[in-house]
Order: sequence, then structure tokens, then C-alpha cells
Amino acid sequence: MDIVKERTGDLMNTSITRITPENHDEYINKTDRPIVILYFSEFCVHCKRAIRSLFVMSQSMDGILNFGMCQVDGLDDFRLEKGIINLPSICVWQNGEKLEFQEGFDEIYGIGNALKATLVPNPNLRYVYADNAATTKISKTALEAFVNCSNEYFGNPSGNYETGKKAKSVIRNAKRTIANCLGLKNGKVIFTSGGTEADNMAICSAIDFGRETGRKHVIVSSIEHHAVLNAIEKYASDDFRITVLPVSSGGYVNASDVRESICEDTCLVSVMLANNEVGTIQPIKTIGALCKKNDILFHVDAVQAAGHIPVAFSECNIDYLAISAHKFNGPKGVGALLVNAGKPISRIIVGGHQEYGFRAGTENVPGIGSMAAALHDSCKGMKENAARIRQLKELLVEGLCTIPDVRINNTSQNVLPGILSVSIKGVNAKALSYVLDEAEGVTVSTGAACTSMESNLSHVLLAMKMKEDRITSTVRISLGTNNDEEDIQYLIGAFERSIRYLRKK
Ligand code: PLP
Repeated sequence: MDIVKERTGDLMNTSITRITPENHDEYINKTDRPIVILYFSEFCVHCKRAIRSLFVMSQSMDGILNFGMCQVDGLDDFRLEKGIINLPSICVWQNGEKLEFQEGFDEIYGIGNALKATLVPNPNLRYVYADNAATTKISKTALEAFVNCSNEYFGNPSGNYETGKKAKSVIRNAKRTIANCLGLKNGKVIFTSGGTEADNMAICSAIDFGRETGRKHVIVSSIEHHAVLNAIEKYASDDFRITVLPVSSGGYVNASDVRESICEDTCLVSVMLANNEVGTIQPIKTIGALCKKNDILFHVDAVQAAGHIPVAFSECNIDYLAISAHKFNGPKGVGALLVNAGKPISRIIVGGHQEYGFRAGTENVPGIGSMAAALHDSCKGMKENAARIRQLKELLVEGLCTIPDVRINNTSQNVLPGILSVSIKGVNAKALSYVLDEAEGVTVSTGAACTSMESNLSHVLLAMKMKEDRITSTVRISLGTNNDEEDIQYLIGAFERSIRYLRKK
């Protein structure tokens, strides 16, 4: 695409200043008047064509950033489209140079800009956090464990002295607790920085093994998290064959598809235990039996499942299982890969000899101790919590279904207790989540999270064969242990008001 010439002028009665390295400090952060910066977008993933646009940003005195977009139809005749919502990704160019790629940037703020003027915050606002699949608040027990480990067990676990040994004992005990909670009878618990690293380590290990043994075929479900999909793309980039399993319209992998996809040279099957967008629980036990019978490594991403539903590692013939503490009321930045005894492990982070020599770096002792405490707590209260959260979800479904044209996408019982996927006909999900957040104090996430350059649409919902307009009107509500019945009543009201507001607009 041709780069639009540099231009300054008057746009919407705002004085436009081209930001240059010379005047940058004068304007950015120090200004007492609005700034407008011109940038140029290039590709609209919705209409699949290049669009030349000016990206306008102003900063008010109180530091609030406002964004707008004006489309350039020929340089001298541009049209302002405030709050444009159909350009989910923006490529930023300046002086003919591509600066950076920003996903969802203009879209989110664009919506905000367009809606801000007429949005009236609820006078009886209540903060309801309903995005527990994204992350959870750390529990009291986990926080206490974190503080205690930081204070009492601060030594370096590699140290051969008393403080070191004490810290090492935290790690040893945490491994035991985690193995017990997840049904690992014989194998290793390797601590990582979270679910993404654990998934990467598993995929890398299996693919390295496949390469060494000449088995270059991988089977993966189409609804895996990008921690898995992108790891496969990276590690199996050369001459591997990848079979991507379809899912049913309800979001389930069919075990017979796995059976039919297995070849002589299949080295790895990767299917998650529960999906992060629609919560569907996959037939892991059946797939595990198939893998065992065919001597294939089996990786399970249990990041959303651990602590919420039972996990039986050994019983399900799993070889690698990934978990992440912040999904079960533990701290962020710590996770683990559970590995079946005797299965290959590759080093993706090299350095010292921590974690049996497989994962270098001084261990995150407070994180590890806290994660074990959180998992222990979650598993102990699992039955009760799951039943209570399921009941809350049913109440929510009942209330939401009284709103016209609201559809629930995951009605089956074989779904994580807290996850609800909802489509609201004719309502843009990002606009809805914005209004819920700004006017109602409610946090939910869009089902169509912008995750790739090629498509703004959720790969999970696409795999479930949902139409584009339904995908863009889908939000994920994920309830957790901190939600109560009052939250649900408030959520129903907040959805009703926000949907009415957006439909009127
Ligand atoms: N796998 C699934 C299913 C997830 O939902 C997530 C996070 O949302 C991850 C992996 C990545 O975990 P982390 O955020 O701990 O890296």
C-alpha cells in the first residue's frame, strides 16, 4: 500500500500537530491542550481490503486519551468517522516506516468514543467481576502462603545451607501436593512461569522426540489455546504433518476423529481438558486410552480445568499436563507441567540445573508454595464450589433468556461450572462489554477476542461453525468462587439495561 503523504490541518475543529522526535516531549504527556496524531491503517479484516485511514488521538488535561478514526478517500477529501468499529487492527506507519502493529487498539477506543457521549453510569453501580476464565483473584489461603513463603522461606533452594534447604522443602511439598491433587501417580512436576510455558515445554518435548524417532505427525484439536497452537506451529515448522481435529457445533472433539487420524508416524495428540471460551469438557479418558494403545504421547492443557473439575492424570493415560495457578485463585506467573514417568522432556529454558535440570532459573518459591495451597484448597472445596457456581450460572441463564434474542452457546451440562457463552443478536460484543464495564461496573470478556492478524474472530467459535455476526455478538461470562446471588441479579439487570441501550442506538 502507498503511504499517505504527511499532512497537517484542521480536523473536527482540533488543531493537528504531527508528532516528530523533535516535538515529541513537548506534546506527549506535557500538553495542556489536545494533541492529534495522524497515523495510517492498512488492512480491514472484515471487508478484506486495504483501507487508508487517519488515526486521531487526543489527550485531555486529565490524561484521558480519546481516539477517533477518519477514513481517507483520496487525500484531499477525507471523511471523519468517529468511533469506527470495523477496523480491528491497525498498522501504524510514520514517515514511511512501519512502527508497530496494534491489535484491537482503535476498535476498543473507537467504540468508547462513540458511546461515551450518551452513556450514563448506573447510580446504583456494583462492581461484579465475571471474567474468572481470564484470571481469578488470589484466595486468602494462597495469599497467606505467598507471604509466608516470602518471609520464612526466602532462601535460594539451590543453596546447600539451612535457608536453602527450607526453601527446597517448599518446592518438594508443593510437588507432592500437586501430584496428589491431579492424580499423578508416577512422574514429575516441573514448575514453570505459567500455562503457556508448560504447554510449550510439552509440545517441544513431544516434537523433539518425534523428530528423533522419525515420527512426524501431530494431531491437535482446532479449539486449543494459542499457547498450544502457536507452539505446534513453531516447533513443528519443518516437515511435520499436522492434523487439526474439528469439533461439533457444541464445541466437542469426537474421539473417533482422533482414532481415524492416527497414523503410523503420529508422535503427539494434544487435546485440552476444558476449553477457555465455551468451557466444553473433552473426552480425555477415551483419547488417552487410544494414545496409550498406539504408543503416542498425549498432551492435555488443563489450565482451565485444574481446581474446577476432577483431573485424573494417570487414570487418563496422560503424558503431559499443563496447569496455571492464576486460574484457580493462585498467584500469576507460576504454573506447572506434569510429566508421566519415562516420557521425554526437552529444555526450552537453559541455564542452571533447577527442576531436575529441565527448567533453569531460581525457582519462584512463594509462587510455588502459594500455587500448591490454592490447588489444595480448590480441590478440597471443588464439589461444593462447583455445585454453587453451577446454580448461580443456571440463575443467570434463566434471567438472560428473558431478554429478547439472547442465545446461550454452551447449554450442555458437560461444561465447566463457571463458563457461560452468550450471543446477543444485533449487539456488538465489544460494545456491550465496554458499556457493561463503563456504565455498570461489570467485567466480562468478548468471545471474539482479537488474537491473530488474519482474523478478528474467535477460532473456537469459528470451529463450532458459528456465523460471523453471531461470533461478533458473543460474550463470555465466567463466574468464580467470589460471585454470589446478588452479583447474578445485578448481572441480569446490567445486561438488560446495556442491551436495551445498545439496541436503541
Ligand atoms: N491454556 C488455556 C486453556 C488458557 O485458558 C490459558 C490462559 O488463558 C493458557 C493456556 C495460558 O496460561 P497462562 O496465562 O498461565 O500462560
